[in-house]
Amino acid sequence: MTTTTTTTTTSELLARRARHISPSLSVLYRDDPVHVVRAQGQYMYDAAGTKYLDCMNNVPHVGHSHPKVNEAICRQLSLVNTNTRFLYEPLMDYAERLTDLLPGDLQVCFFVNSGSEANELALRLARTHTQRRGVVALAGAYHGHTSALVEISPYKFDGPGGLGRPDHVQVCPTPDAYNGQHRGEGAAQAYVAEVQAALNRAETAWLPAAALFAESLMGTAGQIQPPAGFLPAAYQAAREAGAVVVADEVQIGFGRVGTHYWAFQAQGAQPDIVTLGKPMGNGYPLGAVVTTPEIAASFLNGMEYFSTFGGSPAACAAGMAVLDVVEQEGLQEHARQVGEHLADNFRQLADRHEQIGDIRGSGLFLGVELVSDRHDRQPATSTAHDLVRALRRQAVLCSTDGPGDNVLKIKPPMPFNVDDADRFTDLVDEFLRSVT
Ligand code: PMP
Repeated sequence: MTTTTTTTTTSELLARRARHISPSLSVLYRDDPVHVVRAQGQYMYDAAGTKYLDCMNNVPHVGHSHPKVNEAICRQLSLVNTNTRFLYEPLMDYAERLTDLLPGDLQVCFFVNSGSEANELALRLARTHTQRRGVVALAGAYHGHTSALVEISPYKFDGPGGLGRPDHVQVCPTPDAYNGQHRGEGAAQAYVAEVQAALNRAETAWLPAAALFAESLMGTAGQIQPPAGFLPAAYQAAREAGAVVVADEVQIGFGRVGTHYWAFQAQGAQPDIVTLGKPMGNGYPLGAVVTTPEIAASFLNGMEYFSTFGGSPAACAAGMAVLDVVEQEGLQEHARQVGEHLADNFRQLADRHEQIGDIRGSGLFLGVELVSDRHDRQPATSTAHDLVRALRRQAVLCSTDGPGDNVLKIKPPMPFNVDDADRFTDLVDEFLRSVT
């Protein structure tokens, strides 16, 4: 095992951070931040040697510091790392392997360095292809931190410091069948009608939609799993209105949902553009936009596309190693089984604890909504925050999100196992017993 020595205390580190890093970048667990020095698999270690169970980081997809990914990156770095204007095999090996995993004619790749860059480029592709500017987005969605993406991310423009909805963006309600505008049976059709209405508003505002942007499972909106049938029907409505469909799989791609490699497949939906990021390089910066030859052809308008680092040999080596490990270690099926076990544990807790309102998601992308009680379903925000702090004291890392910030977000590195799941829910049980 690697030992790590640190020369800086946590309080010194905080003071140094305050001098040179903008506070607009928040620190997790403000009162008791975690000073990490190393990580392995689904565990992180702090400067004092405490081992934390990581239930929040989906970027180290195949596990923190996975030796096969690290070796692949180092091997490639020691050979050559350059840009996509040169010919090199890792680019083609990766593009072929990635597109083999995507359905239909999603065959043309653009490599970038982050989820934001992927969505930014997807927006340009959609606009160039349709010769339109408008966007339809889902309430609570987050697509990235650039100016254009903040404008299509209700999570940001409707949140603190946001400037509100711009004219070229139409928003439809979060397809939340538990605590949203439409619930229970018939919710999927009702939410599709909302998408249709947003597409119509875009037409009448003379800013028809170039794209419908939709996370296939929504993260910042509160781990929302759209009701069955929503995605294909919403996609169809968008296409009939002349828009293209962008599936934002930045959070949830690469087998995390267990049943499928991509979350849109779980509803039998087929997007026109897919955006990828976070887990793609296991932490090495790598993102992608994958689209159809037809949409890619529209982009050939003379303006060249180039990203200095996007698709570098080392990034492709990282991406390839991630795909290998997901396959070799059977991580998609593992996510399905462990996610089912974890959701079952929570369902048992829900029998005992009225505050557990909803358990949703798929595989190792789960949300547990904490509410006042079963009937009123008011967000139990402070209970959720107290729970996150209590878990941190027990060396378990987990966060909250959603409009009421009362949804436990569970998206651990994929090696997270049944014992980890049991430990996690035992601690949640202990906490909920202590507060009732
Ligand atoms: N899309 C979604 C759904 C995301 O969750 C995020 C990041 N949280 C992004 C896009 C942006 O990715 P990045 O932070 O890599 O720019």
